[in-house]
Amino acid sequence: MSLKGKVAVVTGGSRGIGRAVCLELARQGADIVLCYAGSEDAAQETAQACEALGVRAMARVCNVADSVQVKALMDEAMAAFGRIDILVNNAGITRDGLAMTMKDEAFDAVIDTNLRGTFLCMRAVSRIMMRQKYGRIINLSSVVGLHGNAGQVNYAASKAGVIGMTKSMAKELATRGVTVNAVAPGFIETDMTAAMADAAKAATLSAIPMGRLGAAEDVARAVAFLAGDEAAYITGQVLAVDGGMSM
Ligand code: NAP
Repeated sequence: MSLKGKVAVVTGGSRGIGRAVCLELARQGADIVLCYAGSEDAAQETAQACEALGVRAMARVCNVADSVQVKALMDEAMAAFGRIDILVNNAGITRDGLAMTMKDEAFDAVIDTNLRGTFLCMRAVSRIMMRQKYGRIINLSSVVGLHGNAGQVNYAASKAGVIGMTKSMAKELATRGVTVNAVAPGFIETDMTAAMADAAKAATLSAIPMGRLGAAEDVARAVAFLAGDEAAYITGQVLAVDGGMSM
């Protein structure tokens, strides 16, 4: 129970990697505040599963791209639990398509959720964590942010941007006991990747040295490591969790 007494806010905790992160942090003893965009039932299920592990948990609807909603989420977390030790910026979307034909809306939606949302949440907790002189921020980037991917110019831009923001925030907060790191998952089996065509999945699989797709729990364990005291001297880093795909 290395995170006992800590309070974690996890965005996009209703499904996939975010849910696995909530459960892993709860297993290690952290109280959980999770947010979601529309999946009310799934979000409440995650919260209940966390409570079953012996911690306090609450799920709230919050569009991370909306600064008013983000501030309300953090205010509610503070009112309920009195501190925010860990922020996991996990909420993310894709709107894939070739750049040549990509609609403005598809570009803007991905940037708004993945990049602006990560910024808004980091900004909202930074004062809290600075006052506490303690904090752990973990941002979900992607191997696509490191290497690019045809058909994902919007997503690649958002995830590369997350890495730039991670390093900038790490420098801003380093003297205050707050670390800021990113994880860059490869191909993880969730709803986000379920829609991929079989041929594309097979091609991706052949590029993974470990020869298997990742599980949400693979990413959750890396996030939990960066959230713990063991990672106290690690900041501004990008940890690839990808079975060797990006080496
Ligand atoms: P997912 O299964 O599609 O789940 C996305 C989560 O984000 C859901 O909880 C969703 O809430 C939430 N969300 C979406 N838009 C939101 C918004 N505007 N405000 C608040 N919450 C919002 O995705 P995933 O595969 O677990 O991915 C999680 C993160 O890892 C993302 O940042 C993704 O880019 C990154 N990642 C994933 C992979 C992969 O292979 N799966 C690889 C690299 C990086 P609702 O359920 O309410 O819609």
